[in-house]
Amino acid sequence: MTAFNFDNTYVHLPMTFYSKLSPVPAPKPEMVILNAPLATDMGLDFSSMSPDAQVALFAGNRIPDGAESLAQAYAGHQFGHFTMLGDGRAILLGEHLTPTGQRLDVQFKGSGRTPYSRGGDGRAAIGPMLREYLISEAMHALNVPTTRSLAVVTSGETVHRETDLPGAILTRIASSHIRVGTFQYAAMQQDNGILKSLVDYTIERHYPSIGEEKNKPLSLLEAVMEKQADLITQWMRVGFIHGVMNTDNVALSGETIDYGPCAFMDAYDPGTVFSSIDHRGRYAYANQPNIAQWNLARFAETLLPILDNDTEKATEMAEEALHGFEALYKDKWFAMMRSKLGLFSDRTENKSLVTDLLEWMHEVGADYINTFRDLTEDELPQGEPYDKKTFKEWHTRWQAQLSQATEPLESSVSLMRANNPSVIPRNHKVEQVLDAATNGDIQPLEDLLAALQEPYENRTDLNPYQSPPKPEEKVHQTFCGT
Ligand code: AMP
Ligand code: MG
Repeated sequence: MTAFNFDNTYVHLPMTFYSKLSPVPAPKPEMVILNAPLATDMGLDFSSMSPDAQVALFAGNRIPDGAESLAQAYAGHQFGHFTMLGDGRAILLGEHLTPTGQRLDVQFKGSGRTPYSRGGDGRAAIGPMLREYLISEAMHALNVPTTRSLAVVTSGETVHRETDLPGAILTRIASSHIRVGTFQYAAMQQDNGILKSLVDYTIERHYPSIGEEKNKPLSLLEAVMEKQADLITQWMRVGFIHGVMNTDNVALSGETIDYGPCAFMDAYDPGTVFSSIDHRGRYAYANQPNIAQWNLARFAETLLPILDNDTEKATEMAEEALHGFEALYKDKWFAMMRSKLGLFSDRTENKSLVTDLLEWMHEVGADYINTFRDLTEDELPQGEPYDKKTFKEWHTRWQAQLSQATEPLESSVSLMRANNPSVIPRNHKVEQVLDAATNGDIQPLEDLLAALQEPYENRTDLNPYQSPPKPEEKVHQTFCGT
């Protein structure tokens, strides 16, 4: 009696890519949260299972039929330094085929030690696992590509961090867990056959339109670049700061993966950083596109031996492709920013409207989300900061462009509404609900999750979640949460 429809392919890659093993059983697991709508979307039905059987399933204590569990091997540049990594506390249970034929990884995070654990305990604390659950589900509702979260259970174990905390296991759902770091690991094997097998596998799984006639590694590089440019553009749209854009946290599928110290920006400031370990602002809000390009360069390097037999030519091909990233991203970013202002045309004045508004927002410390949302309303709120002369002048220019556009005003408003959320998981709220959940009260988290389900609607019940933090509520730092 299994709810999953496993059809596993990763296990057929060369054995160097993984270690077969089972999750370490949890001593006394309890259900914290189960994502019923996601389960339904995946074609899963747990209704015939007792609550105990469900908990045993999501704790890794009862391995479902068809699972072939394994830990994946990978490497990665962490804050610029190359390291051999691998799933140190995660186990891929298998690949589930949904009724519509989608292939999804089902992975436990926090399920015990693996051959790649290094010094770690292989476990996770409840706060960070619920944080990933909450933010990944919020990102999905915001229409940002992301891994999903199916369940969180506590393990019954205590994990030792700065303090003792309840241990937990997250069930993560992803289009795959192939990372730039997986390619770095493959390249380390110095065996073109192994590298090619990963290229072919990734193309088949994520980019099936790349045909046999093409230079496959080059086409893959270009396709991944396009996906990353799209992804970062979406992060910028909603003010998301990933916080640990290491190459092991860049998914080839183009999904956001690994929610650690990530956070959403309140007041607009391109230099915003939250992560306590990001001392130099490497992963600051406005640096994310540059880092994406840096990560893509690391990806391109792994492909050099199979791009062309001639090393020089291979390097040229990779460099030429990578050079295109800046323009590719800029076009996408401007188009996205224009859509936030309801502007359809890419004329020069519309570009300056975008940059001038952002500059003004930075100057006055305007709230990123609420300012754009206010602009979608028929009337702007009275008083500060919209009564400022610089803003009024900008507003007049903007209105002039909107009225000159060939598209009707209604179309502009719909475009703006679809691109400017009215609610995001603000850090101070996230911290509050995680604190409550860690102390046994899951209700505030459930309420916040419910509020984040339709983030483009104007619902009055969203009000408590829309205000920026008061000075005393401000979250200045977030932590990796391992
Ligand atoms: P992350 O910062 O979450 O992307 O993790 C970086 C690497 O550290 C990955 O290889 C993880 O599997 C590993 N890792 C993180 N936390 C633990 C832990 N508690 N035990 C073992 N490995 C871990
Ligand atoms: Mg990671």
